[in-house]
Amino acid sequence: MSDCLFCKILAGEIPSDKVYEDDKMYVFKDLYPKADVHLLAIPRVHIESLNEVSDEHDGVIAHMMKQLPKLAKEQGLEDGFRTIINTGEGGGQVVFHLHIHLLGGKNLPGFQ
Ligand code: 5GP
Ligand code: ZN
Repeated sequence: MSDCLFCKILAGEIPSDKVYEDDKMYVFKDLYPKADVHLLAIPRVHIESLNEVSDEHDGVIAHMMKQLPKLAKEQGLEDGFRTIINTGEGGGQVVFHLHIHLLGGKNLPGFQ
């Protein structure tokens, strides 16, 4: 994972705008936001994509899912929010460390 952008962010080798962190996940602002609120939630463990998720990841995946509504509310998204996971090149994934986009606010984009 030495050349994984998000592992480098986790290691503090590349700066990021942190919003939340705990022992399982890290959440930061997308560098090129596509909505008023655009966060990226990533597991601390390197998982390339949803294709590589297995039983051993049940705990971290469930934990991340349950944190998302709390994070959205903390961002002022009381009305709701959008989550996107791009998987594989065909799914538009560019960074191959599993991440959940959390988007919301007035300028909510379509499925890009
Ligand atoms: P993907 O297309 O892989 O689902 O999304 C990757 C996301 O990472 C994109 O929304 C892109 O704007 C974001 N991104 C790429 N490089 C960086 C970076 O160095 N820092 C941050 N915070 N976000 C990045
Ligand atoms: Zn990684």
